[in-house]
Amino acid sequence: MSRIGFIGLGIMGSHMAANLVRAGHSVTGYDVVPAAVDRLAQAGGKPAADLAGAVDGAEVVITMLPDSPQVAEVVLGPNGVLAAVRPGVLLIDMSSIAPETSREIATAGAERGVRVLDAPVSGGEQGAIKASLSIMAGGDAADFEAARPIFEDLGRTIVHVGGHGAGQTVKAANQLMVAGIIGLVSEAIVLLEASGVDGERGLEVLAGGLAGNRILDLKSTTMLARRFEPGFRIDLHHKDMGIALASARAAGVALPLTGVVAQLVAAARAQGHGSLDHSAVLKVVEQLSAR
Ligand code: NAD
Repeated sequence: MSRIGFIGLGIMGSHMAANLVRAGHSVTGYDVVPAAVDRLAQAGGKPAADLAGAVDGAEVVITMLPDSPQVAEVVLGPNGVLAAVRPGVLLIDMSSIAPETSREIATAGAERGVRVLDAPVSGGEQGAIKASLSIMAGGDAADFEAARPIFEDLGRTIVHVGGHGAGQTVKAANQLMVAGIIGLVSEAIVLLEASGVDGERGLEVLAGGLAGNRILDLKSTTMLARRFEPGFRIDLHHKDMGIALASARAAGVALPLTGVVAQLVAAARAQGHGSLDHSAVLKVVEQLSAR
């Protein structure tokens, strides 16, 4: 059992924190949205009125926030995690953010004697609910082993992928693949329907062959029904495509398909669909053919 401070109780963090409570940890949570803190209290966690209250006495601090600026503010800010906790604490950022921000946080943590891991996740809201997330961790091996029991309460595929920031690079690779697959499933749906083929039957048989994939398994029903409640918001996937392209630039490599798919995600956002599920890329693909 660990004393855990949990910051960011949104679509993912709410379920992850609740799973840690169920696993027997003492979890104190904070979110800028009071209703999110109330939800944790109903799940058996301890509500905190502010950040300092959530991390007070914590052995482990977990952050699950939208993007790099929020993580930087919460961790590095004047009233942030590093200013509040004592040396020896393990800080695990499970948000999807820029690898260089993760490295900055690790360096600042080391100066304060705080151990830091970047450990973004994949598996979506269902993975968070079922504690079946894939967890890709960057940082020191000893810190990863210290965090492993907590990771095992949250996920199923748990891999130490390298040093600080490596978890975020793997997550960027995950996100470019997921967006690409959503784009291709969208194109398959548009082709099937425009050709007078039943989309449901078409996708059913595709799911059993070489084109089978998790997006088809998890999202084909809602995509065919044009139901796009999140899930994972277009706004957040747009952020991740920016991280993927910036990482490619930093690594000196060309990712042409990622560039095209990033523009589809950007178009969905520009058209006002930022708060819909990322499968709403289908709307853009349909619009290109005036469907
Ligand atoms: P979300 O927007 O639902 O949750 C983020 C939470 O952080 C919100 O409740 C928000 O109020 C809170 N927050 C923002 N700023 C804060 C601050 N300064 N202090 C305290 N709380 C603050 O987002 P989400 O879907 O839960 O995603 C969280 C992270 O996980 C993102 O980086 C996202 O890219 C990643 N992710 C999401 C999914 C998914 O399917 N939703 C899957 C894998 C990874």
